[in-house]
Amino acid sequence: MEKEIAPIMTEHWEKAEFPFHAIPKLATLGLAGGTTKGYGCPGLSLTASAISAAEVARVDASCSAIILMHAALVIPAIDLCGSEAQKQKYLPSLAQFKTIGCWALTEPDYGSDASSLRTAATKVPGGWHLDGQKRWIGNSTIADMLIILARNADTNQLNGFIVKKGAPGLKATKIENKIGLRMVQNGDVVLNKVFVPDEDRLPGINSFQDINKVFAMSRIMVAWQPIGISMGVFDMCHRYLKERKQFGAPLAAFQLNQEKLVRMLGDIQAMVLVGWRLCKLYESGKMTSGHSSLGKAWTSKKAREIVSLGRELLGGNGILADFLVAKAFCDLEPIFTYEGTYDINSLVTGREITGVASFKPAMLVKSRL
Ligand SMILES: Cc1cc2nc3c(=O)[nH]c(=O)nc-3n(C[C@H](O)[C@H](O)[C@H](O)COP(=O)(O)OP(=O)(O)OC[C@H]3O[C@@H](n4cnc5c(N)ncnc54)[C@H](O)[C@@H]3O)c2cc1C
Repeated sequence: MEKEIAPIMTEHWEKAEFPFHAIPKLATLGLAGGTTKGYGCPGLSLTASAISAAEVARVDASCSAIILMHAALVIPAIDLCGSEAQKQKYLPSLAQFKTIGCWALTEPDYGSDASSLRTAATKVPGGWHLDGQKRWIGNSTIADMLIILARNADTNQLNGFIVKKGAPGLKATKIENKIGLRMVQNGDVVLNKVFVPDEDRLPGINSFQDINKVFAMSRIMVAWQPIGISMGVFDMCHRYLKERKQFGAPLAAFQLNQEKLVRMLGDIQAMVLVGWRLCKLYESGKMTSGHSSLGKAWTSKKAREIVSLGRELLGGNGILADFLVAKAFCDLEPIFTYEGTYDINSLVTGREITGVASFKPAMLVKSRL
C-alpha cells in the first residue's frame, strides 16, 4: 500500500476515478476473499481480516472500501446465502478481483429504513423480473455483478439476486461531487424489468434477518476502517510536527500540540481494543448486534474527533489532500454514515440494553396501536 498505492492515490481521489490499474496490486494483497474458506478465498480469521482492512485504510480509505465491498459484503453474502453452484461460479474471480461486485440494499426513499425497501421481484417463467431503484451503491457503475436486495411480490419477503453487468433494463449512473471516498464509484441504479434466471437467486436470503447475518460481520470490518484512518492521520501528524518549525522550534516542541497528539494516541489505543474485542466476541459466537453497532458507532465518532485534531495540527496544509489528513478527514464522513449511521447504530444498541425500540417516532407507534 505504501509503495504502490500511496504515491498515486491523491490524483485518483481528486479526479474521483476508480483506480483500475491498482486493482491487480490490491488483488495481490489477498484480502478480497476475507474470512471465506475455499473457492479461492484465503479463509483469514476475522481478526486478521479486520486488522488488514485497517492497515489498508491507514494508507487509503477508498481502497479499503473497495476491498471491503468484496471481503465483507458480496463474498460473504454468496458464501452464507448462496447455493454451492453460485459459490463455485462467482467466488474465485471475486476473490482475485478478476470480477468486481457490489451490494445494493439502499434505495432513494429507504436509507436508514432499508428493511422497508420497495424494489420488487416478480416471478416469471424461468426466473424473476426486478423493478425499482437503488441509491449510493458502491462500485455499481463498473461492477460485473450486482447483488440486488428486493421484495418478493408474492410473499412480501426480502430476497437477494445476482444481476449481471449489461442486463437489459439495468442502468447505473455515477453520483458526482462526493466529498469523501472519491475513488469509490457510488451510483444510482435503475432496474426496469431486469430478468434474473432462477439459478441467480440467492436461496439463503428470505428476510432482513438473513441480511443481518452478513451485516454482523461487515459492521465489525467497517468499525476497523476509522481505526486505520486514524492511525494514518496520527502517523502523518507525528512526522509533520517534528519536521516543520515555527517560532524557531519544531511544532512538536509546543505543549498544546503534544497534548493533541497524545489525545489522538490514547483514543486510537482504545479504538483498537474495542475493535479487537468485537472480533473476539464474534469468533467465540458471543457477539450481539448491539455489540457490533456500538463498536461501529463509537469508532467512527472517535475517529471524527481524531481527524479534526489532525487537520488542525497541520495548519493550512491540513486542508490539502496531498498531506493525507484532509483526505482522511473527508473519507471518514461517508463511513460515519454507511453500514448504519451513528444514530441508527446507537438505537440498535439502545434497544438491546433497554429492551425498548425507538426507531419510529412515538406518534407513528401510537397510531398503529
Ligand atoms: C459513500 C457511501 C457509500 C455507500 N455505499 C452503499 C452500498 O454500497 N450499498 C448500499 O446498499 N448502500 C450504501 N450506502 C448507503 C448508506 O448505507 C446510507 O446512506 C445510510 O444507511 C443512511 O441512509 P440515508 O443516507 O438515506 O440517510 P437517512 O436515512 O435519510 O438519514 C438522515 C439522518 O436522519 C437520521 N435518522 C434516520 N432515521 C432515524 C431514526 N429512526 N432515529 C434517529 N435518527 C434517524 C440518520 O441517522 C441521519 O443522520 C452508502 C452511502 C454512502 C454515503
